Amino acid sequence: MNKHPAAMNYSDEEGSESEGLTPPFQTPKGMHDILPPDHEYHTYLKKIVRHRCRQAGFKRITTPILEYTEVFKRTIGEVTDIVSKEMYTFEDRKGRSLTLKPEGTASICRAYIQHGMQNLPQPVEFFYIEPHFRYERPQAGRYRQFWQFGFEVMGESDPALDAQAILLAYRIYGDLGIGDTLKLQINNIGDLNSRKIYTEALRDYYFGKERYLSEEDKQRLQKNPLRILDSKHEDTIILNQSAPKFKDFISKESQEFHDEVLEYLTDLGIPYEENETLVRGLDYYNQTVFEFWDGKKGAQNSVGGGGRYDGLMEILGGPATPAIGFAMGLERVIAQMKRNKVRVPSKDDLHVFVAQLGRQAKKTCLPLINELRDRGVKTMGALGKGAIKNQLKIADRFKVPYCVLIGLTEVREGTAIIRNMIKGSQKTVKMSEVVEEMVKAIGKNNLDFYDPKDPVNE
Ligand code: ATP
Ligand code: MG
Repeated sequence: MNKHPAAMNYSDEEGSESEGLTPPFQTPKGMHDILPPDHEYHTYLKKIVRHRCRQAGFKRITTPILEYTEVFKRTIGEVTDIVSKEMYTFEDRKGRSLTLKPEGTASICRAYIQHGMQNLPQPVEFFYIEPHFRYERPQAGRYRQFWQFGFEVMGESDPALDAQAILLAYRIYGDLGIGDTLKLQINNIGDLNSRKIYTEALRDYYFGKERYLSEEDKQRLQKNPLRILDSKHEDTIILNQSAPKFKDFISKESQEFHDEVLEYLTDLGIPYEENETLVRGLDYYNQTVFEFWDGKKGAQNSVGGGGRYDGLMEILGGPATPAIGFAMGLERVIAQMKRNKVRVPSKDDLHVFVAQLGRQAKKTCLPLINELRDRGVKTMGALGKGAIKNQLKIADRFKVPYCVLIGLTEVREGTAIIRNMIKGSQKTVKMSEVVEEMVKAIGKNNLDFYDPKDPVNE
């Protein structure tokens, strides 16, 4: 069965009844359900990300799940892996070509231009948390629908902004408990002109070596030689090591820009490795590019990456707008957290299970359940089917620390039984005291209480 690791734990816990049988329908190839155990990680990640982004003045943006195909074709580049073979592209009923978004930056730039954001105070800073789609060969850490958190800083160019972008990503990884396990790779891929000259040098270097290249890399060499540096083919990776280096071709300005970024990183105490073959999988980058690697060998060791894309807005018909962005794959971050035994606080665990017997008891329970929840006690109400003993067995499977039991006697006497499921002890209290007793037992700090602030009416 095509099961995600989290799903395996989940159905194991539940004691799956359909063991051995393959259900007729499965998730589409390369896609997975996010089940509650993994959602605990997603929830935690979102909390960290929102917090860090807010501190840095970023606002959240959400663009549609798809765009006109041209938006991606033009910006990401025709000969990139994404555009040449990974896009989910289809026609709508009027024959317009649409594509599920494979990444976030192009759509956000489209939005920046569409809404005239160059008139806002610059830089405009956005973050997003969204699913993306790439038709890739599924393997560990590589899915066809995956989640990314990312951010963009648009409208200003300065090495200090590059350092700030890296700092934000670095701090988030740190908060998630995996900062020390990642290696920051950084490179400067120069401006358009130096890239042109460098491209020629790469072509010359590969002249006569074509026979060692895969069909894919031959294509790259022909259409966009820079892409060869991003190859995942082993022979090419080896050849790339002796290829001419960007460093020797980038302009003096780019070199200075790069040195300044590195200087700021050092000042901030962020360790980095200069990586001269790092080019990133998209065409729109220039100057600074960076990735965070998890340190293990393999084709999917990038836990996140970003770079400067000063020319992208113009490609989309907008005003010249320098910008820098970053994105990380949530599935890979979560996998890295699990590998490093980082556990997240679970907020889903129930506090109380309310069991009852008889119609009258049910009537008494409903307002009680409502009030308990209102006070922040996470409460599950049984339907009162079967003997109290059976209901207690169910409560046990939900792993609740407390049960409130209301049977015929309790209804008559206006009382309830509070059972401590861990100690196995119980006591009878007045119905009117149940809520206070439970709030006290759970403890103020453990209550799931939130205070909806009044909306402001002016
Ligand atoms: P890779 O080299 O592994 O294919 P990429 O360079 O294509 O990665 P980016 O476009 O930089 O990836 O996307 C940013 C991040 O999104 C990656 O660092 C990775 O964590 C994640 N990511 C990319 N593609 C996938 C995928 N198919 N499944 C899961 N996560 C992904
Ligand atoms: Mg890729």
